[in-house]
Amino acid sequence: MTPFPERIAIASRNEHKLREIARICADWPVAWLTTQDRPDEPWPDVEETGSTYLENALLKARAVAAALGVPALADDSGIEVDALGGGPGPRSARYAGEGASDERNLRQLIRAVAGVPSSGRTARYRCVATIAFPDGSQVHAEGVCEGTLVGKPRGSGGFGYDPIFVPAGWDRTMAELSPEEKDRISHRGRAFRALRDLIAAP
Ligand code: IMP
Repeated sequence: MTPFPERIAIASRNEHKLREIARICADWPVAWLTTQDRPDEPWPDVEETGSTYLENALLKARAVAAALGVPALADDSGIEVDALGGGPGPRSARYAGEGASDERNLRQLIRAVAGVPSSGRTARYRCVATIAFPDGSQVHAEGVCEGTLVGKPRGSGGFGYDPIFVPAGWDRTMAELSPEEKDRISHRGRAFRALRDLIAAP
């Protein structure tokens, strides 16, 4: 088992993700480095050129681990819609085009499933979380959250596709859940708790 490092850099500039990761990993016995707290560190800009969540998560984490010389944590995530053949998947952040806002991506997905009967609107969020070490080694874990899509956005919590994603067993969208409720069942919560289980406490 990999021992817990003293410091971990979080390889993400996405404020929503940073907030969720900080909540989910609040009990990890490490000092965190983020782009917000350490703006003077040489944080690299990484293009997500991989075709899988794991490839993209490793691209982000390895670039930061190499640039800062400390272990780096990253996640890559997306939504998989069965009626769209499992898409947009790892391309979820760029669904409506390169650099598209969360809002444009959400509108694009609402349009894409508009003709699909509600019984066929099954979907899932998937997240791969990884820690890359400066010596080139890595650990990773995956989390999934099953659900269905509704046609009209509801709620103001979360981010991305949350206003139309109803997790299995709930009658509220992910954006209508409290942060604690989301973390308990989310793909990200599951992936980071599984990742923690791969690392030994000091
Ligand atoms: P990436 O992991 O930075 O490539 O971005 C993943 C994309 O998937 C985000 O931009 C969102 O569109 C979507 N996504 C990932 N996790 C969530 C979530 O928890 N809620 C809503 N959308 C998400």
